[in-house]
Amino acid sequence: MSLSLADILAARRAIDGIAARTPLVPSPFLSRLAGLDFLLKLETTQPVGAFKLRGAVNAVSALAADVAGVTCCSTGNHGRGVAYAARARKLRSVICMSSLVPQAKVDGIKALGADVRIVGRSQDDALPESRRLARDEGLAEISPFDDPYVVAGQGTIGLELLEDRPDLAAILVPLSGGGLAAGIALAAKAIKPSIKVIGITMDRGAAMFESVRAGKPVEVDEVASLADSLGGGIGLDNRLSFQMCRDLLDDYVLVTEEEIYAAMQTLYFEDRMVAEGASVVGIAALKAGKLPSFSGPVATIVTGRNVDMATFTDIITGRDVKLGDSFVKGRAYGA
Ligand SMILES: *Cc1c(COP(=O)(O)O)cnc(C)c1O
Repeated sequence: MSLSLADILAARRAIDGIAARTPLVPSPFLSRLAGLDFLLKLETTQPVGAFKLRGAVNAVSALAADVAGVTCCSTGNHGRGVAYAARARKLRSVICMSSLVPQAKVDGIKALGADVRIVGRSQDDALPESRRLARDEGLAEISPFDDPYVVAGQGTIGLELLEDRPDLAAILVPLSGGGLAAGIALAAKAIKPSIKVIGITMDRGAAMFESVRAGKPVEVDEVASLADSLGGGIGLDNRLSFQMCRDLLDDYVLVTEEEIYAAMQTLYFEDRMVAEGASVVGIAALKAGKLPSFSGPVATIVTGRNVDMATFTDIITGRDVKLGDSFVKGRAYGA
């Protein structure tokens, strides 16, 4: 299976009018810190609060008219995108998630009229249920990252980035199953081969990073993280996003929970923005001095805003946050 720029251009036409063309805005604070233009691509402004709408709408638009409905497993945002896209086509949707998914995300999906199934302790536990629904009830299963229509849909972000700023030197992409990074890298490098695309993820349970290092898809333990949207494996039977990330990404950076916590505060206090942990890993990497040096402007994708507001309030007020069996130690911003 392989994708080309033409697939991403087709995705752009398919999602037009349903998914938004999002703003790219400079962060004055982060630009000063980086010593170059540091830009934020605000996928938080999508109708479902996350970029996943792009891939979901593209995948649902490709289904036959007589399909019985759709199903997927999800860490939350993909399910919300699929539920939204299905509702727009008056299709039934069944979203399978684990108990690690924050309640705010579950509630957002239910509000779109989807059936929700909570199965197991990780996204990998929820996957067999969506496979079963596909088999037994004839629903079309849409992978959150390993589907050509999903990757092409996420890739439309790459087109928009280079239209707005042809001078970009690098793109920092939050990385989990790799659909987002694969799509953006394919689009951006087709238009501008010299651009660097860097995958950024948390340092525990980083499935794509571990897999690329091992040279093949490997399993990791999914652990609770402030970047809950970055959890889950890439699938041992991965057929698309692994190869694309391996071949197209220039570098990987891992950030700690403490660095994610501090970056959520930074984005809130300096840029007045609410975003989930997965969205700020690029900012976390910059603040932690973990990025290579760049020859020109850099953009990061602020991928979603569907954060649990009680947790978010704890973070901006500097309180401890409980994560599974451990916790992230609280620290007031600037202290
Ligand atoms: C899904 C998701 C990601 C990662 O996307 P992948 O395609 O799985 O790599 C990043 N941020 C948010 C908010 C997400 O929902």
